[in-house]
Amino acid sequence: MLRFLRDKVRLDTVALIAIGLVLFCCAWAFDVHEVIDDYAHHHHVEGLEAVFPAVVIVGLLGFIHGMIRIRDLHREVRKRRLAENHVKWIARHDPLTHLPNRRFLEEKIARHVENASVQAPSLTAISLDLDGFKKANDLIGHHGGDEILMEVANRLRGLVAEDRIHRLGGDEFLILLPRSEQFDIDAFGRRLIDVLSTPILFGAIATEIGASVGYACYPEDSTSLAEVIRLSDIAMYAAKKMGRNNVRTYNHAMNDDVALRSKAQSALRQAISDGLIHPYYQPLIDLKSGVICGFEALARWQADDGTFIPPAVFIELAESSGMITALSEQILRAACRDAVTWPDHIRLSVNLSPVQLNDPMLGMRIIGTLLETGLRPGRLEIEITESALIQNISLAESTLGDLHRAGVSISLDDFGTGYSSLSQLSTFRFDKIKIDRSFISNFDDDEKQEQIVRAMLSLGQGLGVATTAEGIEDETQLMTLRTMGCDFGQGFLFSKAVPAEQALSLVSSQGEPRVATRS
Ligand code: C2E
Ligand code: MG
Ligand code: MG
Repeated sequence: MLRFLRDKVRLDTVALIAIGLVLFCCAWAFDVHEVIDDYAHHHHVEGLEAVFPAVVIVGLLGFIHGMIRIRDLHREVRKRRLAENHVKWIARHDPLTHLPNRRFLEEKIARHVENASVQAPSLTAISLDLDGFKKANDLIGHHGGDEILMEVANRLRGLVAEDRIHRLGGDEFLILLPRSEQFDIDAFGRRLIDVLSTPILFGAIATEIGASVGYACYPEDSTSLAEVIRLSDIAMYAAKKMGRNNVRTYNHAMNDDVALRSKAQSALRQAISDGLIHPYYQPLIDLKSGVICGFEALARWQADDGTFIPPAVFIELAESSGMITALSEQILRAACRDAVTWPDHIRLSVNLSPVQLNDPMLGMRIIGTLLETGLRPGRLEIEITESALIQNISLAESTLGDLHRAGVSISLDDFGTGYSSLSQLSTFRFDKIKIDRSFISNFDDDEKQEQIVRAMLSLGQGLGVATTAEGIEDETQLMTLRTMGCDFGQGFLFSKAVPAEQALSLVSSQGEPRVATRS
């Protein structure tokens, strides 16, 4: 349309000038002025000779007016063309870093498909994901996170032409490079990491982020560019699994891993829908009286061959594939149903996944399950880890606030393993802190660990928050913790997590509790 208009503007200008010239030439050739003069003279028409200059003047003014209109139209077209180009640019670029975005990349892939039959230049797709960006974002806020992304984009621009870098969302980037014989892709990957891991200054804070880099080659790894990009992504995830700042090249075994993972996902989906994942219960012991005061529900999935799949594996799988809400609701409902059969003073602890805390309806869901199963809110304790809290602090605050108001207790799980424990203790109101078992496992032969546990316990006492020690495995640990004033304990010394029926018989046999006999 714009091209047509532009051409029409040119056409109109040319036509107007041409008509003007033709008329002028005709008037000149046929001596029109003389003809009119003669006519007026022979027919005695008064004033006719004045008509000609009038016509010429009107024509000239019309011509000038036409030219001005054409110039205005021309300007208008140019403005529209600029606006249209701007809109096109916005649609194809990331507004923050100004780098090409996913749409730009998709168009590039489409053009590549069109040209592939004619000429297929070798390409390398490099997927890049920042390491530690989320942590930095949480620490210095979203504004700081934006600054980091802009700095990363600028550093990438220093290495590669801008139209070869794409920001695909969040902290994910893709670079598409033509490949020549002498190009050393591994060295390039390392260079990328070096450049990105130089600390970024944000005010007085130096933020260190890194990058995981994976790459795949066209046409060696696949004859479809879109597929090569997917494979470079797989390589990048493999690099990320190895820790920070790694480069991996795609190989077929990686795709097998992805296939295995997707098989595991479908098995998990099936297990959830068939209700095959059950809560087991590990007793929580009141260290003063030595009796069971509650149970922690721990999810257990027994495979067809009788082996148990570790929760660390399937919980992570459920989190990354959007199944955690369904799984957690199932576990919570079953655990609440079991807990109503226990004596009223026995409490139930349930773990919450960090992903669940992003759900604004979480508080309502938990309260709904309590109402449905008839478990008194005062008997439920929710366990959350430090990492869960920092992801969306305001949402976590409001969800935990709702639960507190309903009478549910909150405990901070795996205390000491995160990096912001102390700030969280002042931000959130906890009823209990659970000292991670890594501190307990070797604290009796490591003086420093023992001092740390002592400090954690006095921190709890100072804040008026109850303390639980996780992973108590032997008598010495137990005795030391009791003399240090730890309130509750949990560990294999008392019992592993057991099925619901056994949990009930553990409570019934409270008459002769293990710990009580030792006190
Ligand atoms: P956690 O909440 O810290 O649970 C305690 C873990 O320590 C359990 O591992 C338990 O079996 C283990 N443990 C308890 N006492 C001892 C001991 O004396 N020695 C040793 N070595 N280990 C002990 P488990 O059941 O494998 O669970 C691992 C983690 O998986 C849990 O850590 C929790 O974060 C997560 N998890 C388990 N069930 C659920 C669930 O239903 N929902 C969610 N969101 N997470 C769950
Ligand atoms: Mg726990
Ligand atoms: Mg724990």
